[in-house]
Amino acid sequence: MFDKFEIDVLLDISAGCQRRCDDCVVSFDSPMSLSRTKDFKRLLEQCMDDFFLGNLWLGPTDIFASNQTVTYTDPEIIQVAKYFKTLTLSTSLLGRDADIARHAEEVGKHYTQEIKLAIPVNLREVDNVKYRTYIWDKINLFEKHLGRPLGTTTRKVYFIGNLPTSGDDIDPTIFDKFIKDWGVQLDIGVGNGRQGIEALRTMFDNALEFFDNRLTEVNNFPGALLEEGRGIDLLYRNGDLYFMPFYNERIAVLDDRFKLFKQQIWSVDNLISNINNLMVESMTLSQKHPECSACEFNSRCSLFLVPTLLDSLNIKHCVQPKELLRKNGTYHKAH
Ligand code: SF4
Repeated sequence: MFDKFEIDVLLDISAGCQRRCDDCVVSFDSPMSLSRTKDFKRLLEQCMDDFFLGNLWLGPTDIFASNQTVTYTDPEIIQVAKYFKTLTLSTSLLGRDADIARHAEEVGKHYTQEIKLAIPVNLREVDNVKYRTYIWDKINLFEKHLGRPLGTTTRKVYFIGNLPTSGDDIDPTIFDKFIKDWGVQLDIGVGNGRQGIEALRTMFDNALEFFDNRLTEVNNFPGALLEEGRGIDLLYRNGDLYFMPFYNERIAVLDDRFKLFKQQIWSVDNLISNINNLMVESMTLSQKHPECSACEFNSRCSLFLVPTLLDSLNIKHCVQPKELLRKNGTYHKAH
């Protein structure tokens, strides 16, 4: 659809949330600050010539929670958002109707692009009809006060569950149920890398078994089934910019290994060269990994920096559900 390579950005500005979901890994005590937004805006301007600026995601927690140090009404955030085609807002949508209506009106006033919502869910609530009805009522309320339809080109809402530390008690048909009963595909947030790369070890301990036992051809492993070279995912947090590796979803990893522009000017040339270096390093590491070196998915995993993650964590086995990767293409049916 677009000729240019896509860049999506996750802008970490929030550290509060009204919910406490099972298996949540977010740290609620780290205040956000805005710095280097001037550099960031200049970089985005440069990128517009060669890239398509797709989605800006405001998160990672509930951006409507009341205890934020940076808010979505900050003029700097509004300026940054102007470069992107769509805007996704992380929110629990819990709260009084009057507050939700007010937030929707503010968003509608300040942001002109397509809006989508990302809403956390407890995986164990898949059969909770009361909550499902409640949250859809809130989504409809938000949309009404936004003054225009949510998500016209893609999904209007993403329901995101946390990867369970133990998946044994999670409904084996959960992905099917979300499509059938909730009306959307379920996404699984896999990373707690904001606490450092070591925190991803538990995720890799559980992820393969969890996905392998629950995914079908229809309800697949959405992120990993994407074509290689789908685009670039960046994370901006407290004035630093990171390249995001990709497993089932893009993963925020606050580790120096993924930080861009170490000691360098923020420019599109430096961005491309930094990312190229990360990918070359990942490919080189894949050659040392016993399974990766001869694997048919080597280039895909390398470009998504999976070998770099495995090397950092000293994981020697493959972490991908390969059978599902072989069914590539089903992503387009289910998304
Ligand atoms: S699918 Fe597994 S073995 Fe193949 S490159 Fe990826 S991580 Fe390595």
